[in-house]
Amino acid sequence: MTTTALRDQFPGLANNWHYLDTAATAQKPQVVLDAMMRAGGADYATVHRGVYARSANMTVAFEAARERVARFIGAASPNEVVFVRGATEGINLVAQSWGPAHLNAGDRIMLSQLEHHSNIVPWQMLAEKVGAHIDVCPLTDDGLIDLDWLEANLTEQHKLVALAHVSNVLGSVLGVKRAAKAAHAVGAKLMLDGCQAAPRMRLNMAELDCDFYVMSGHKLYGPTGVGVLWAKAETLDSMPPWQGGGAMIDRVTFEKTTYAPAPSRFEAGTPMIIEVIGLHAAIDFIDSFGPEAIFAHESALAAQTRDALRGINSVTLYGPEKSAGIVSFSMEGIHPHDIGTILDEENVAIRAGHHCAQPLMDHLGIPATARASFGIYNDENDVAALVRGLERVKRIFG
Ligand code: PMP
Repeated sequence: MTTTALRDQFPGLANNWHYLDTAATAQKPQVVLDAMMRAGGADYATVHRGVYARSANMTVAFEAARERVARFIGAASPNEVVFVRGATEGINLVAQSWGPAHLNAGDRIMLSQLEHHSNIVPWQMLAEKVGAHIDVCPLTDDGLIDLDWLEANLTEQHKLVALAHVSNVLGSVLGVKRAAKAAHAVGAKLMLDGCQAAPRMRLNMAELDCDFYVMSGHKLYGPTGVGVLWAKAETLDSMPPWQGGGAMIDRVTFEKTTYAPAPSRFEAGTPMIIEVIGLHAAIDFIDSFGPEAIFAHESALAAQTRDALRGINSVTLYGPEKSAGIVSFSMEGIHPHDIGTILDEENVAIRAGHHCAQPLMDHLGIPATARASFGIYNDENDVAALVRGLERVKRIFG
C-alpha cells in the first residue's frame, strides 16, 4: 500500500522522516488540511443557528460529518454520535453523566491492567464520588486482557466494564464479543476505548455489542480537538446533561430549563466546526484504503519489526506476537529516553515513556518502554531505519 505518492500526501512526513509515533497522533493528509482550511475560510460560519445561507450550508456539512461517522462505525443512527473534544472527554462525559445516575455506593467498575490513564482516572473520580470500587482484570502472559479471569470474576455488583479495544502500548486486541457477553451476563455496561482500534479496524457497533465507544480524531488522521462518543440512542436518552450552555437546551427560563434530545444535549456551546469537517475528510481518506487493509499492513510491519528486534541481543519485546501495529520494547541497561534521543538523530521518531499507562509499566516491572507504532504511510524503509538506529544505540552504549 505504501508508495512515495501516499507519503507525499502528508506534509508532516517531508524530508524522509521515519515517523513511528502514530499511536500518539497520526500525521494529517493534505485533503484533511485543505478541508479544514476551506471550513475555516471561505465556508466558515456558525452552525445550527444562522438563518443566512452560509450558516445553513455549514450546518448541513456539520451534520453530514455526523452521518459519515455513524456510517464509518456502523451506528444505527447519527443521533448516537456525540462530538466531543477527544476520547478523554468522551470517557469523562460518560463517567460524569451516566456514572452518578447509574452507580451507587458498593457498586463495582471493572478495568484492566493495560488501560490508558484516560480510561482509569475518570472512573477513579466517579468511584470516589459515589463510593464505588474499582477492580482490575489481569493480563495473560503475552499481554492480552485475560478474558477467562474476566468471565470468572464479574459479579452483579459490576455496573461497568471499561476496556481498551486495542492497547496503545502492547497493540493487544481485545476479544470484544467475549467481553461484551461477560459484561452483559451480569447486567453491566461495556465501554470500549477505541482510540487505537478506530484507525486500523473495521468497526460495527451492533456487532461489537458494546454500550459506549470512544475515539479521537487526531489518531484517525484528522485534527486534534475532536473525538466521538458513541452510545445507543436509548442509553444516551437515559443520561442527564453533562455541561450546560447554549445549544443543549430546549427552553430556558429562570424557573426551569428543559433540554434538547441527544446528541445535542451533550454538545453545549459552539461546537468544533472546523475540526468536525476535518474529521469527515479524514474518515473519507482512511476508508478509501479500507480498515482491513490498514490492519494487515500495519500488523505486518509490526511483525517484521519484532523479528528484526529479536536479532538485536539485549532487546526485550513486550506484548503479543500478533499485535495491531504497535511494538513496545526495551534495551538492557539503556533508558528508553536515550533510545528515543539517538533515534531522533537518525531521523526516526518513536515514543519513549510510560505511554500514559503507569499501572501497565508497574505490571511489567519497568518505568518506561520504547514504542514504535505504525500508520498507513509507513513501510519497510521505516523498519530498516529503526533497526539501523537501534544498532547505533547499541554501539554508543557499548
Ligand atoms: N486511550 C488510548 C488507548 C489512547 O491511546 C489515548 C491517546 N494516547 C487515549 C485514550 C486518549 O486520547 P486523547 O488524548 O486523544 O483524548
